[in-house]
Amino acid sequence: ATPTAVMVGTGVGATNGILIKGGEPLETTHKLKYVVFDKTGTVTHGEPRVSRVAMFVQSKVCSFIEIMAIAGSAENSSEHPIATAIVKYAKQTLKLESLAKVSDFQAVPGCGLKCKVSQIESILENVDKEAVKNRKNQFGSLRIKIDNPIFGNDGAMASKTYDVLIGNREWMNRNGLDVTPEMDQAMNEHEEQGHTAVLCAIDNRVAAMLAVADTVKAEAHLAVHCLKEIGLEVILLTGDNKKTAKAIAQQVVGIKRVFAEVLPSHKVKQIRILQTSGLKVAMVGDGVNDSPALAQADVGIAIGTGTDVAVEAADIVLIKNDLLDVYTAIKLSRATVRRIR
Ligand code: ADP
Ligand code: MG
Repeated sequence: ATPTAVMVGTGVGATNGILIKGGEPLETTHKLKYVVFDKTGTVTHGEPRVSRVAMFVQSKVCSFIEIMAIAGSAENSSEHPIATAIVKYAKQTLKLESLAKVSDFQAVPGCGLKCKVSQIESILENVDKEAVKNRKNQFGSLRIKIDNPIFGNDGAMASKTYDVLIGNREWMNRNGLDVTPEMDQAMNEHEEQGHTAVLCAIDNRVAAMLAVADTVKAEAHLAVHCLKEIGLEVILLTGDNKKTAKAIAQQVVGIKRVFAEVLPSHKVKQIRILQTSGLKVAMVGDGVNDSPALAQADVGIAIGTGTDVAVEAADIVLIKNDLLDVYTAIKLSRATVRRIR
């Protein structure tokens, strides 16, 4: 490639908020066949909100207030977008300023977390139980329905340490807990709408299901449409549940092919599998989890607001965080290569 054409190409990119790290990615981009999008934080905003809390009657281990205090405290040690949503919801619903003490915290990427929560009575001292009952339906545009709220025996909570697990079905099974048809059904209902459902077990009994809903970026559908129109195949790649991923991919953004329930460590393997065809693959992502896949892809594309690790691993950075810029980058690369030849 002539240095002049590369300079013009990267320059035009830069003025449009598309940072192309050199001539090689600029040239490879015109040969792309596959564009693989990460889901959470890339196709969606990555800021899910709690859309439902369902308590399982047979458990009766804890009241709604206790469950939210325990789940909120446990998730306060995690950085996952699901965790952020649960922490925020727990604090808002219970009007808590601080959360309870967590020990022995362990997070397994793509599965969930495990920890011990103690001293919840100290944070629940000032919770107004009537106020919680009245506030429970008022969150955002999403309807919060609380099934079978069992409010605790007033003020009589013993000082106790709870064993807590929060995560997907697989995570419960791995820890020796059964997911009953009732629980599975509760999760399905939300997954079919594109929400992510997780289970919360307290002292080895599955006590509740928490569903969180993330919103799809406004331009996602148009970006996918434009990419398909210029002959690319678009794929969604996520650690999330198959039903959730399919609902978002097919109904919302128009992506037919979905690789779901892919553990973070296996995202890079999925890219390699696509590359065995000999065709060029782009990966678009934002997270720390995505960076090995961004590096493996023929062209790694990071969202500008993504984590530093992702931005560093990528060949192209979308400064404006606009998914349509994936399309713009490909058009720009094609125009540049035409100029070179
Ligand atoms: P994505 O690729 O869409 O970013 P992840 O691989 O991060 O998804 O997560 C996959 C699944 O693992 C989640 O949908 C959830 O079921 C479970 N999970 C991971 N971390 C947590 C957590 N902190 N709390 C609850 N569930 C979690
Ligand atoms: Mg992500």
